[in-house]
Order: sequence, then C-alpha cells, then structure tokens
Amino acid sequence: MSSPIVLATWSFGTIATAQGWKTLQAGGAALDAVEQACVAVEADPQVNSVGFGGTPDRDGRVSLDGCIMLSPAQRGAVCFIREQMHPVSIARQVMEQTDHVLLAGQGADDFADAQGFPKAELLTDEAVERWRELKAKQAAGESAQQVNREEATAKGIAATPSTTTSTELSEDEPPHDTVGVLALDADGQLAGACSTSGLPLKIPGRVGDSPIIGQGLYVHPQHGAAVATGTGELVMGVCGSFLAVEEMRRGAAPADAIAVALQRIRESYDIQPDHQVGMIALTPDGQWAHAALVEGYRTAIRSVDRDDLIECDTLISA
Ligand code: ASP
Repeated sequence: MSSPIVLATWSFGTIATAQGWKTLQAGGAALDAVEQACVAVEADPQVNSVGFGGTPDRDGRVSLDGCIMLSPAQRGAVCFIREQMHPVSIARQVMEQTDHVLLAGQGADDFADAQGFPKAELLTDEAVERWRELKAKQAAGESAQQVNREEATAKGIAATPSTTTSTELSEDEPPHDTVGVLALDADGQLAGACSTSGLPLKIPGRVGDSPIIGQGLYVHPQHGAAVATGTGELVMGVCGSFLAVEEMRRGAAPADAIAVALQRIRESYDIQPDHQVGMIALTPDGQWAHAALVEGYRTAIRSVDRDDLIECDTLISA
C-alpha cells in the first residue's frame, strides 16, 4: 500500500488537486485522478490558460493540447483541438481505444465526435477582451509572455516565498500556463496528465511541449513521473520531462532530477526575461520535488496530511 498524493502546477492546481484527491481518497486509480483533476480545470472559465476560456491564438481562436500517461506503452495525446473542452479525456481515449499516441487538429476533433464527446465553444467574452488587450500591448512592442510577466510582477507575484493553504485562485499569475498533474494511488500506480491552451497569441497551428510525451510529461511506473509548465519551446529542445525521469532511473532524487533538466534548459538557450519553466517530479514511493527557472511558480499538493499551495523557492539560476 502506498500513501496517495496528487500534485498540480500553479495556483489553479488547487482545483485539480481538490478533484484528484476526491478520487484518490475514495480508493480510485491515479489515472482517473489525473484525468478528473484536469477536467475540473478545463471546465473552469476562470482559468484562462486551460480548456474553456483559454487564451486565444494570434488570430483570436482557442486551441487546446493535452496528454495522459501511465507508462511508455500506455500514453495518449491530442493537440490543436478547437471544438472540444476536455483534451485529457480525449487523450485517454486515444490511449485506450487506438494504436496511436497523438491525434492532431481536425482529426482529433473528429475522433472525439466519434467517441461521443460533445462539441464545445471554447471562446468566452472575457477571453476575447483579454485577447484584444494582449494584441494592443503586443502592437506596442511587447511580447505576449513579456506582458504577462510584467503584469504578474506589478501585482507582486515575486513577493516573499511562502507556504499557504489557500485554495483560492490566485489573480497575480500570468494568464498562461499548463495544468500539469501527477498522482500516486494507494496501489503504488503513478499517472500524469497535462492540459493547456498553450502560449497566448501563439501562431495558429503552434503546438508546445504539453501534449508531447517526454516533453511536457513523462511517466515510468518504476522510476517516476515528471511534468513541466512554462515556455514549451524551451522544454522541447531537451526532452525535459523524459530527462528528469531518466535521471531518476539512474538513481537521482526528484529534486536533483528536475534540477538537471532545468539546468540543461539554462545551458541550451539564451533565457529571456519572459521565459519560465516550472517542473514537478514524483517517485513511486511518494517522494516529490518542484523547481523553476525563475520565481513566481507554485505547486498545489494534496495528500493525507497536506492541502497546500506552495511557492517554489528552488530556482535554477544560471
Ligand atoms: N507549456 C505550455 C506550452 O508551451 C504553456 C505553459 O505551460 O505556459 O504550450
């Protein structure tokens, strides 16, 4: 028997951990916990970087990416879907009902239709308004991520690191980012999932790390699981989540494993002020760690004795 735990990225991760914990606490499987955790965030229009109400691309349309994973042989993903609210549930169907790993674009939307998922309008009035503001700022010469980070900084996101038990949505985080969820169930089974609308104002068709197995998420039942959030392009050149799990396979503790992945990102790119990557790693025996490139990243945790949102003070600096 293992002691169940669920971890999720960012303040809105508290929505995910609350839902995931319900499943785990009832003796449910980690796979169901991570799926339901993501579904809860995807359905919440207040979370403006995931699912319904996600931030539009350059041309004002929302597209979603997501994946789910149990093991190298059991994983599924969808990307660039525009007609469905729950990419992780569709990804699970890809995993369980097909011989494929990743379905993209209209093919993925059509697959979801065929599986009986209801079509959904993803764009909200608030998202349109946010898109207009971002476009105006971008036209004034700032990158979308730069605008996001500046707004966050102005609102005090870089305030003193602290541990909080708040389950309120934080309003001082950038309007982007993935919900990445890792869970361990009572049977010792690990699972992971992630879901995102991707970078704000992305070029239509752009797909980031989140639905790509080994980039935004990797799970090995014996060695551990890792998930990433932030600037997907940085994660994608180093196979970030795979690298972290591979380090754990070689014996590294979770903290050291994600430090290696984030250090590799530091070494591989000219990191810009608007860049961020946060990672979580979890082992089959329940050890976990988080780290980020720069301050402002948070992890939500739920276990038998914890219900916290933790400011990440493990920063991998140059
Ligand atoms: N990693 C996601 C992407 O690049 C977005 C994010 O987590 O901020 O699409």
